[in-house]
Amino acid sequence: MKTIDHWIDGGPVTGGSGRSGPVHNPATGEQSATVSFASVEETDRAVAAARAAFGNWSTSSLARRTAVLFRYRELLDAHRDEIAALITAEHGKVHSDALGEVARGMEIVELACGIPEKLKGELSTQVSTRVDVASLRQPLGVVAGITPFNFPAMVPMWMFPLAIACGNTFVLKPSEKDPSASLLLARLASRAGLPDGVLNVLQGDRVAVDRLLEHPDVEAVSFVGSTPIARHVQAKAVEHGKRVQALGGAKNHMVVLPDADPDFAADQAIGAAYGSAGERCMAVSVVVAVGGTGDGLVGKIAERAKRLRIGPGDDPSSEMGPLITREHRDKVASYVTGAAAQGAEVVVDGTEWTVEGRPECANGYFLGVSLLDKVPVTADAYLDEIFGPVLCVLRAETYEQAVELVNSSPWGNGAAIFTRDGGAARRFQLEVQAGMVGVNVPIPVPVGYHSFGGWKDSLFGDHHIYGNDGIAFYTRGKVVTTRWPDPADRGGIHLGFPSNS
Ligand code: NAD
Repeated sequence: MKTIDHWIDGGPVTGGSGRSGPVHNPATGEQSATVSFASVEETDRAVAAARAAFGNWSTSSLARRTAVLFRYRELLDAHRDEIAALITAEHGKVHSDALGEVARGMEIVELACGIPEKLKGELSTQVSTRVDVASLRQPLGVVAGITPFNFPAMVPMWMFPLAIACGNTFVLKPSEKDPSASLLLARLASRAGLPDGVLNVLQGDRVAVDRLLEHPDVEAVSFVGSTPIARHVQAKAVEHGKRVQALGGAKNHMVVLPDADPDFAADQAIGAAYGSAGERCMAVSVVVAVGGTGDGLVGKIAERAKRLRIGPGDDPSSEMGPLITREHRDKVASYVTGAAAQGAEVVVDGTEWTVEGRPECANGYFLGVSLLDKVPVTADAYLDEIFGPVLCVLRAETYEQAVELVNSSPWGNGAAIFTRDGGAARRFQLEVQAGMVGVNVPIPVPVGYHSFGGWKDSLFGDHHIYGNDGIAFYTRGKVVTTRWPDPADRGGIHLGFPSNS
């Protein structure tokens, strides 16, 4: 059985803790590898490597850092297919979707290539007689990143390219469910010329996470994952005096107004609800049909849902792959089987699904897509983040009722409105309580040069990730006030508080 180990100080390091976990191919249900789980001592070793690398890396010229990042971008481009294949083999998503994930991660590397422009700082001359003031931003030190299973390449790339471009060194703790993509990302970074120890990958579970959160040499923590763990990470990191951004779960609503094009809305809802088997933090999991749009829209979504091709991610004809684990598959199915008893109408039931023509997939973690209509707000399928291919439809009489419904959710990651009415869309942008808003765009994931982040229980900490917020998070400010006195007029002694003159 293949073992998946750590990447510390520029090379592979075999795990020695004696603890490990299985990695499966979700399309077949077979175990494909064993991943090492780091001990406290191994975590300390990764942090020590990052700390040792910080001195030279943080003082290396911007030209040197960007030269590495440009080479890295080219290597990622050349290895897109290989990274995507690793994602499909361990996560299960279809190859085209995995390629999309790699492309969206590379956006942040491209942003990082332009870091000299972003770190330029500010200068005010002659704020007082012979006095100038400059604002600079400097790196923090060792930064830790803890990432979820659903984007094993993109979410790590939301973090480390900008962190290292700013001069930090990094310890990445990827999800133990699909750990291989991050190792390839680290190997390619080394090939691009990144000095040893600047980017380290530590495989593991909560032992490694908790050690990173309390380690005195870790200055900041970027976390992406579920809301309960995000809460835990933020509280523990703050307790240990660290800067932290912790992005959590979501329940994203798509409001469809009566004037929206129903075919366009149905097409968009299908892609946003069932793409990547619904295992996206920006998936649309709730459609709010306003006015009389409900019956027509549900009919159009159901008709499309039944035609989706579900199969292994390495089959180019598959549009949706399996779920991540058997336990998760069964949990998602339980929301559908329990929905009718809680008052919802099960319009499409995907709980039984077998992949035809691929006997090796008989034990894969496949689920068909499900569509639940008239879901009560008290039903578990509405209250919980299901994180699977289950779309709930709720009805609202008016725009105001729809917005009230969206805003009463504890989460606030993304929200979308579908309409042809610019005035309604504008109101929605201002009134909806979510960090990312789409107007006729169901999954409004910001491009790399804007920042990504939710509100309420979807983000703990006040910095969004990547974009300008990412740069602010991975640096701290310093303001330098400089005076070059005139030797002929030193100005004498003053005990008053300095004022500008
Ligand atoms: P998760 O919270 O279970 O795991 C995330 C990371 O935390 C993993 O690296 C895991 O090893 C670690 N972890 C798990 N339990 C831990 C514990 N008790 N103590 C310390 N560390 C622990 O999340 P997941 O299941 O891997 O990913 C799915 C979740 O992530 C969903 O809720 C989804 O909405 C969310 N997500 C959010 C965003 C966003 O940008 N807001 C993006 C992607 C995923």
